[in-house]
Amino acid sequence: MSYVVVVGSLNMDLVVRVPRFPTPGETVLGQDFGTFPGGKGANQAVAAARLGAKVSMIGRVGDDNLGHDLIQNLIREGIDIQHVSVDDTEPTGVAMITVDEEGQNAIAVASGANMRLQSADVERAWDEIEPPDVLVMPLEVPLECLLTAAKLAQNVGSTVILNPAPARELPDGFLQYINVVVPNETETSILTGSELTDSSMTIVAARKLQSMGVNQIVLTLGASGALILDGEEAAIEIAPHVVDVVDTTAAGDAFVGGLAVAMGEGNSLYDSARMANAAGALATTVMGAQPAMPSRESVLNLLISEGDGL
Ligand code: ADP
Repeated sequence: MSYVVVVGSLNMDLVVRVPRFPTPGETVLGQDFGTFPGGKGANQAVAAARLGAKVSMIGRVGDDNLGHDLIQNLIREGIDIQHVSVDDTEPTGVAMITVDEEGQNAIAVASGANMRLQSADVERAWDEIEPPDVLVMPLEVPLECLLTAAKLAQNVGSTVILNPAPARELPDGFLQYINVVVPNETETSILTGSELTDSSMTIVAARKLQSMGVNQIVLTLGASGALILDGEEAAIEIAPHVVDVVDTTAAGDAFVGGLAVAMGEGNSLYDSARMANAAGALATTVMGAQPAMPSRESVLNLLISEGDGL
């Protein structure tokens, strides 16, 4: 069993299904409304736990009902929440999500307590946990916390996976503490300052990202699957699974969770990306973020049914 530590965000997602996204100034009447536990960090923690890892979460919520619900939900998933602290000034993070008929989403986040996580919280947590096989970090908490975590992880030989989402530029030198970067196309474009107009440009941009100091890149391509770069080896495309898409929210989080678990179990980058690709595809078939994270059994079944078992 692999041990995965996630340093990242916990948000409550408020989700409305709409026939199409509203334009500025417009109101669109939607259909059903749902409240789902989310936040990229917590989503990735739940994904990793359902895929069979032991998981600890380091993060921060507000001292309110939403925060307590998010913690309870992680407990139900069997995740160690000893290092999810409760902030007494800022409210729990909230994401307002609209999902259209194609399952695409548009999201606005109020980070609240997530941005009050401190490097000292990470250091304290690190003193109390075992060295993990894998450290997973999305970008919805302060960068200095992530830098602290990455350095601590590097010291003990953990594999450090950065999911640079939501997209933003990173300070010089940050990527040297990262073993694997898992961006989507938008994030790749922003990190490298390149436009990804076609697949050859995508590979050029991924190579540029590598040259910024990371050996292993796993680029997620939505309905087109994924692309991996492992050192100087030729780029390898991972073909998408064909699924009935309901809601693509958190497909990337399922992917990152899958990659972390498989790498933590000692699989190659290629085999880990295949598990991740199946997890990402399955996550699009269910509404919501954490409720959509697939089980290990369903991921292995999907791989086997396509003659592609791990
Ligand atoms: P993000 O959610 O971060 O934008 P992507 O949209 O690239 O990330 O999706 C992450 C992964 O989820 C993809 O690499 C793929 O494996 C899977 N995925 C997403 N959308 C689909 C889809 N429509 N069909 C099959 N797999 C998908």
